[in-house]
Amino acid sequence: MPYSYDDQNIFAKILRGEIPNDTVLETEHSLAFRDIQPQAPVHILVIPRGAYVNYDDFATNATDAEILDYTRAISKVCEIAGVDPDGFRMISNAGENGVQEVPHLHVHILGGRPLGRMLA
Ligand code: 5GP
Repeated sequence: MPYSYDDQNIFAKILRGEIPNDTVLETEHSLAFRDIQPQAPVHILVIPRGAYVNYDDFATNATDAEILDYTRAISKVCEIAGVDPDGFRMISNAGENGVQEVPHLHVHILGGRPLGRMLA
């Protein structure tokens, strides 16, 4: 499915350095920073540097190098945040039904407390 990327979204501005962020990890193709409204003691957003709207856009159109970098960055962030071995949650909202507020792919890493059961 083709996606149209809005380069004025807030994460695009963070990537361009127009808005400050609390960086956790920087890699060649990815950036991780703390959520501005944390929902748990650990709440970190991991984004690709490339202009991808959501996971489908990324998995379909990103290069192998970007995909490898991003998946490893998510894992590294979990290590840096110290959420293993107690456990954590990864969430990536997509589109209107998924209530995606920022139209640039991001994975939320949540942890540091029991998160309860949540499938919807
Ligand atoms: P979504 O609903 O799109 O999955 O989540 C977007 C997330 O981005 C929210 O958790 C929100 O708090 C976070 N967010 C929105 N604007 C900013 C910002 O300017 N800086 C940071 N660090 N997080 C933001």
